[in-house]
Amino acid sequence: MKPAALVINGENVHTTDYQAVLNPSTGHIVGQMPVGSTAQLDDAVAAAAKAFRTWKCTSSAARADACRRIAAIIEANAEELAHLLTLEQGKPLNGMGSRFEIVGAIAWTRYTAELELPVEVLEDNADGKIELHRRPIGVVGSITPWNWPVMIACWHIIPAIRAGNTVIVKPSPYTPLSTIRLVELMNEVLPPGVVNVMTGADALGAAMSCHSGIAKVTFTGSTATGRKVMAAAAPTLKRLTLELGGNDAGIVLPDANPDAIAEGLFWGAFINSGQTCAALKRLYVHESLFNGVCQSLSAYARTVIVGDGLSEQSMLGPVQNKPQLEIVASYVDEARALGGRILFGGHPADGPGFFYPTTLVADVGHGCKLVDNEQFGPALPIVPYRHVADAIANANDSSMGLGGSVWGTDRSLALDVATSLECGSVWINKHGAIQPSAPFGGVKQSGVGVEFGMEGLKEFTTVQTVFR
Ligand code: NAD
Repeated sequence: MKPAALVINGENVHTTDYQAVLNPSTGHIVGQMPVGSTAQLDDAVAAAAKAFRTWKCTSSAARADACRRIAAIIEANAEELAHLLTLEQGKPLNGMGSRFEIVGAIAWTRYTAELELPVEVLEDNADGKIELHRRPIGVVGSITPWNWPVMIACWHIIPAIRAGNTVIVKPSPYTPLSTIRLVELMNEVLPPGVVNVMTGADALGAAMSCHSGIAKVTFTGSTATGRKVMAAAAPTLKRLTLELGGNDAGIVLPDANPDAIAEGLFWGAFINSGQTCAALKRLYVHESLFNGVCQSLSAYARTVIVGDGLSEQSMLGPVQNKPQLEIVASYVDEARALGGRILFGGHPADGPGFFYPTTLVADVGHGCKLVDNEQFGPALPIVPYRHVADAIANANDSSMGLGGSVWGTDRSLALDVATSLECGSVWINKHGAIQPSAPFGGVKQSGVGVEFGMEGLKEFTTVQTVFR
């Protein structure tokens, strides 16, 4: 098996140290991650800084065209990327799995390519003209998680380079291979140094967060690590976008139809086996239809095939890694011990890989980790409520605020409840839908700043006010 290499200044750069990458479906080694050194990080920063001097001066049209060419080369290599992603991440090829993720990466890239940041005229009168210009920031450090590695890398890289910055991307050590390949492909259509990839242990992310040559960090990962990034970035006052953890609540109102919403609830919670930042992670159901929702969800769960990601039949795959599997299992065990009723699943699968079944736990409430913390895996707590005001209060009783949803037939009531939720995105009769034009980000401790659309693009710029 040929070991993968870093990409610095358009060249493959080998390392002296490697770390095995596992297939979560089997536990077998599928590749070797190069462990980059701090000297190689310095080389990458120097290459990105040199490339920035030229890239920032290219026309907007040239940068848009480069992004279009990136979309085309990803599309031409989509099947290779999807297989690599499934091998290291575990998600199935089909359903909302690897092929879906690559299609998403292409769609975001194409949309962002067409965005423009024109000069805004603030005043134009006898006293003179005042204009607002958007300038690129410099070298951007992109740090990504293991759940949607290719799509999130594109969410970071494409707006950064579209706005005239250069990038060093550092993927999670659990899923480095698909990002390395993605960056190799990008380098077939970009000048050297515009996009570089460094891989290695978590310490590499820490080194990027405090590196004096990096002007902005865009980070997607857990809230705990986001705090560390913010602290490490403080001495150099880096610009930051932090997309962090969530504990999204969904509220099922008394007028909802359990059979009609079961499929949407299921996929809102279990997309990517629950390993999605804005997945439905706590479900509050009015007591009048609690049993109906539990039955409909259990019936739907029975139809979903969980298996090896490479099987064309699988609709969900394993948990991505063993530590995450242990968190999910321990949260379900605690919920059971506290009186939670397991409706479906509830025990880790025998056999190889990090499989945990889709699990539904009824009759739990605040005070258990499955409700209070982000489980980030395939286990959904279902909490009964009597008064809508209590459901809203419980949904908002969290330090997190990424997404939330409301389910019911009276859309105006649902809208009232939705807008009282403290979160960056709310959905009615669905959960977790995102698109390239709509800003996405967390409030409270779920993040700082937003991604996507014009608002997201602006995060990769600084403002220069020109008085002329
Ligand atoms: P994580 O925080 O453990 O790791 C994320 C990245 O940070 C990895 O690349 C890791 O190597 C790096 N890292 C680790 N320690 C670091 C440090 N001290 N300084 C800098 N970088 C460091 O997160 P994860 O387990 O990979 O991902 C799961 C988490 O990500 C969940 O909490 C999930 O909700 C969150 N997430 C959020 C979004 C969003 O858009 N809000 C999207 C996806 C995932």
